[in-house]
Amino acid sequence: MKEAPYIVSACLAGVNCRHDGGNRLDRRVARLVAEGRAIPVCPEQLGGRPTPRAASNLAGGTGADVLDGRACVVDVTGRDVTAEFIRGARETLLIARTAGATRAILKENSPSCGVKRTYLLDASGRPGRVEGQGVTTALLSREGVRVISEDEL
Ligand code: SF4
Repeated sequence: MKEAPYIVSACLAGVNCRHDGGNRLDRRVARLVAEGRAIPVCPEQLGGRPTPRAASNLAGGTGADVLDGRACVVDVTGRDVTAEFIRGARETLLIARTAGATRAILKENSPSCGVKRTYLLDASGRPGRVEGQGVTTALLSREGVRVISEDEL
């Protein structure tokens, strides 16, 4: 039987989808894509965010809190981009289900893709790295997709 594909953060596969227009190529992830074993997605682009774009941070809680309406996502200009982040997470889940993917490799530290760590605004409005998942990782995990980061490969 054919192996189910991974969902992977597109920036890890070398796609220039990061907020600064660059990527975070990880050759192990790119190889999975080249072998037809992984599907690259960028949740922020899928949610309608442009590239390049203002960087974003979670505010008031991590990804699961955003899904539950207890926290939000704001970009560095102060714009609330929560709706785009949730849309991107849902689109990523739809792609995973359509492709039969049950595993994902997502980019650590991102407010969308972070697996063990993400970026959260502190009480003074400064971004800092905290333990917790990004919005897409939280949704995929909640829906039964096993998510690891490039650090765990
Ligand atoms: S970390 Fe996720 S949302 Fe950010 S650029 Fe990479 S794929 Fe897109």
